[in-house]
Amino acid sequence: MTYDASGAAEFKDAVAKGAAIWNESVVNVQLKPATSGQRANVRIIADNGWPRTLSTGLGSGTIYFGRQAVDEGYNTVRISSHELGHILGLPDMKPGPCSSLMSGSTAGVSCTNPYPNAAEKAEVEDDFGLVGAGATAAAAPRMYRD
Ligand SMILES: [Zn+2]
Repeated sequence: MTYDASGAAEFKDAVAKGAAIWNESVVNVQLKPATSGQRANVRIIADNGWPRTLSTGLGSGTIYFGRQAVDEGYNTVRISSHELGHILGLPDMKPGPCSSLMSGSTAGVSCTNPYPNAAEKAEVEDDFGLVGAGATAAAAPRMYRD
């Protein structure tokens, strides 16, 4: 799947790092930058709100890379990986420990872990393994407000 970080402003590097982390964590799906003129599966847009993700189906949607959490001290690469986790079908798992990527902000500003844990990786592998086998992904839009 492809992503377009042209609207990610100062977070472009964090987006690339988050994508690289997922690429080294799972095999059934890989994230690549969209080439110019190509319609990306995922768009990342920097704004001044709280980070959130609009999922429009497994592997597609829009990430709003909100500066509010960054201003409060949350780690930008963890935010990137977490929001990409929503795009990859993972829900929030809150409250939770720093070892969980999807525990999000509940792990506190001191948590800088950007890596999914074994269960989170397995869930993404399962979801995309099924897609690869011909199953159709649920397309109901869903907003994750964190
Ligand atoms: Zn979240």
